[in-house]
Amino acid sequence: VAKPDPILRADGIRRSFGGLTAVDVDHLEVQRGTITALIGPNGAGKSTLFNLLTGFDRVDSGQWTYEGRSLQGLAGHQVARRGMVRTFQLTKALTRMTVMDNMLLAAQGQVGEKMLGGLLRLWTTQEAANRKRAIELLERFKLDTKRDEMAGSLSGGQRKLLEMARALMVQPGMVMLDEPMAGVNPALVQSLLGHITALRDDGMTVLFVEHDMDVIMGISDWIVVLAEGKIIAEGCPDDIRSNTQVIDAYLGA
Ligand code: ADP
Ligand code: MG
Repeated sequence: VAKPDPILRADGIRRSFGGLTAVDVDHLEVQRGTITALIGPNGAGKSTLFNLLTGFDRVDSGQWTYEGRSLQGLAGHQVARRGMVRTFQLTKALTRMTVMDNMLLAAQGQVGEKMLGGLLRLWTTQEAANRKRAIELLERFKLDTKRDEMAGSLSGGQRKLLEMARALMVQPGMVMLDEPMAGVNPALVQSLLGHITALRDDGMTVLFVEHDMDVIMGISDWIVVLAEGKIIAEGCPDDIRSNTQVIDAYLGA
C-alpha cells in the first residue's frame, strides 16, 4: 500500500440549512493521483460538500487544505486557480453560447458562471494560449467539429464531455465531478469512464459522485460513503462491496 499523500484534507466541515444538518464531516482525505468516489443516498450531502470544498457555498465551521494550503474563505474562482476544479451543469446562459466560447469563459477560472457580461476578453496573448488549449481539449473529447455550435444543441453525453473539457481549461491538479454520467445514453458511459480514468493516468486526482455501483466499483481506487451528512464508511471497492451493512442500509443495491 502506498504511503498516504493527501492532496486534499478537510476537518470538521459543517453546514446546516435551517434546522437541517446537511454536512457534518469530521475528517476527509483524498489521496493524490487516485479516483475517489463519494457515494450515498439522495440528500446525503454530497453536492453540498462539493460546493463547500470548492468555495461555492460557505461552511458554518471547518478547515480544509489543498496542496497543504488553506482554502478557507476563498471564492470558487480562487479555489479553481489553486488547481481544484469542479464541473458544472451547463446553465441556460451557457447553452446559448458556442462550444468554443464556453471553453474560453471557463479559462477565466470559473469566475462567476452567472455573470457572463464583459468576460469574453478581446484578443490577448493569454487568449491565444486559451484558444490553443481549448482546441486541444475539444479534439480530445471529440467535440472539435462542434466548436461553433451552440452548447445547447449538444446531446446529453456531449454536454457531459463539454462540462469536463471546461473544467480542464485551468489545468487543474484535482477535478471534482458531480454525477458525470447523469442522463447519459448507456452507449456513452464507457467512453465517459475512459475519459475519467485518463484524467488519473495524466496525473490528476479525481473525486466524483456517482450512483451506479458497477461504475463506482469499476473505476474507483477508494470509496467514501456519506449518509445524513456524515462519513459512515470508507475503503477500497472490495471492502465496501463486502460491507453488507453499508450496502443494505444506505445504498439499496
Ligand atoms: P446529495 O447531493 O447527496 O443528494 P445535497 O447536498 O444536495 O445531497 O443535499 C443535502 C441536504 O441539504 C438535503 O436535505 C437538501 O435538501 C439540503 N439542501 C441542499 N442545498 C440546500 C439549500 N441551498 N437550501 C436548503 N437546503 C439545502
Ligand atoms: Mg447531489
